[in-house]
Amino acid sequence: MLNFQRTLKRSVSFSGVGVHSGSVISVEIRPASANTGFVFQRTDLPNKPYIKADVNSVFDTTLATRIGSLEASVSTIEHLMAAFFGFGIDNAIISINNSEMPILDGSSVPFLTLFDEVGIEVLKEPRKVVVIEKVIEVVDEKNPSRFIRVEPSKKPLISYVIDFAGAAAIGRQSISMNYTAKAFCEEFSFARTFCLKEDIDYMHSRGLAKGGSMENAIVVSKTEGVMNRQGLRNDQEFVKHKTLDCIGDLHMLGMPILGHVIAHKAGHDLHNKLARAILAEVSCRSIFVPSAKEAARLKALLSFPKSLSEIERNLIGLAIG
Ligand SMILES: [Zn+2]
Repeated sequence: MLNFQRTLKRSVSFSGVGVHSGSVISVEIRPASANTGFVFQRTDLPNKPYIKADVNSVFDTTLATRIGSLEASVSTIEHLMAAFFGFGIDNAIISINNSEMPILDGSSVPFLTLFDEVGIEVLKEPRKVVVIEKVIEVVDEKNPSRFIRVEPSKKPLISYVIDFAGAAAIGRQSISMNYTAKAFCEEFSFARTFCLKEDIDYMHSRGLAKGGSMENAIVVSKTEGVMNRQGLRNDQEFVKHKTLDCIGDLHMLGMPILGHVIAHKAGHDLHNKLARAILAEVSCRSIFVPSAKEAARLKALLSFPKSLSEIERNLIGLAIG
């Protein structure tokens, strides 16, 4: 059962505010058959177009990951994609009546909680994995201190460094963890998105971040530190959120990665470039459907929780504010 694709057992519906539009947005996530991948449908547009979420459908990474085209797009999908990784979901159809996903609490926990309620269905088709056999690296040409690479590794690992020298409350944080679904659910899923108060003031002046509030983001002031009354959920919440974003962006590949992802001051742009480079540079041999024997060897990579009761951290009822 280790190497079989999964989807949701039943549909799940929810609504929430879009961080940029400020609109209340309705979403339905439906089960999908094997090899569907992740397909969004814009129910508010004429002919209700479908937008496949994959590495090549990403066309804007300015403030969030946006897929599709100028005519029909969906943005801020990374926290949902990360939650799909956390439950090992390979296939889903996501109907949405706006161009951005609701931000909810700014983390992946609300999605995990919804998936937990409807349950997971194991399908009959096996899933592919990608095994990294050489170093693949992407560097920001304008700022070479920003890079991301993936190295061959016997265990799935992810390391991330952030450095916000201008905001002491964020500062420099680094983390190195297992790149597995269980580690994602336990250590990264709850980490909320964050922004600088000074940037919010600027975004408001440009008509952006209309739905942003301390209920869906950590707000950091350069002079006063973390503004949220209840503080942080974890000392490393900032770097953990960036790792969550990275895991969501790399799940656009639609398969787990056996390798060590190392990111230094990266972001959605570099995450997507790495995903594209992986597809372009790995040999056919390193993307494959593992046999039952190989799947047993890749157990850490292919073990996905069936419910949140398997997670050794209480994610339900996290403090907001
Ligand atoms: Zn994020």
